[in-house]
Amino acid sequence: MINLILFGPPGSGKGTQAVTLAEKYGLIHISTGDLFRYEMSNDTPLGLQAKSYMQKGELVPDEVTIGMLRNKVEAHPKSNGFIFDGFPRTVAQAKALDAMLTDKTQEVSALIALEVDDDEIVARILNRGKTSSRADDNDESIIRNRINVYNRETTPVFDYYAQTGKTKRINGIGSIEDIFDRLRQEIDQLS
Ligand code: AMP
Repeated sequence: MINLILFGPPGSGKGTQAVTLAEKYGLIHISTGDLFRYEMSNDTPLGLQAKSYMQKGELVPDEVTIGMLRNKVEAHPKSNGFIFDGFPRTVAQAKALDAMLTDKTQEVSALIALEVDDDEIVARILNRGKTSSRADDNDESIIRNRINVYNRETTPVFDYYAQTGKTKRINGIGSIEDIFDRLRQEIDQLS
């Protein structure tokens, strides 16, 4: 059973890598960003709630995000484990995740952080924005705000898991294949 947090700033490649890793290790990939976008595209009450925050590059409130994540985890009671992508983004979310996994007599196996510098992130997201049709990928000031929110609210999640020795850092610059190999080497040491 592996429960992996794929960590890193927006645009660091978490989503791309999570899809391939989930396939290789037979894990359920949960991206809270994708879940919110799905809700938004269906104009659900949850989607409408999330929209104003996402458009500004702010975090959706913890209660909303944690409730949505819990539903998704509970929908897969027989999974071999999960890859969390874009969650937890606050220490409150991390504590809620730990409690959720403890209820299932499981725990977070590791948090792997993809390290990418700010200028590279902005360039990557603007490039993605050409095809992603995401409003938050097409405006440099929103992208910079997402990076600021990450530095302010999300980096403490790294420190939270570092206390229990579960954190690893990976160079997030390079080809998709090279980064996948770096991740694979870390994950293969877990079991
Ligand atoms: P992402 O696709 O992971 O970059 O997320 C896009 C946007 O969705 C973020 O800028 C937030 O507005 C929202 N979001 C995604 N995951 C979370 C989370 N764990 N907590 C709060 N907001 C989130």
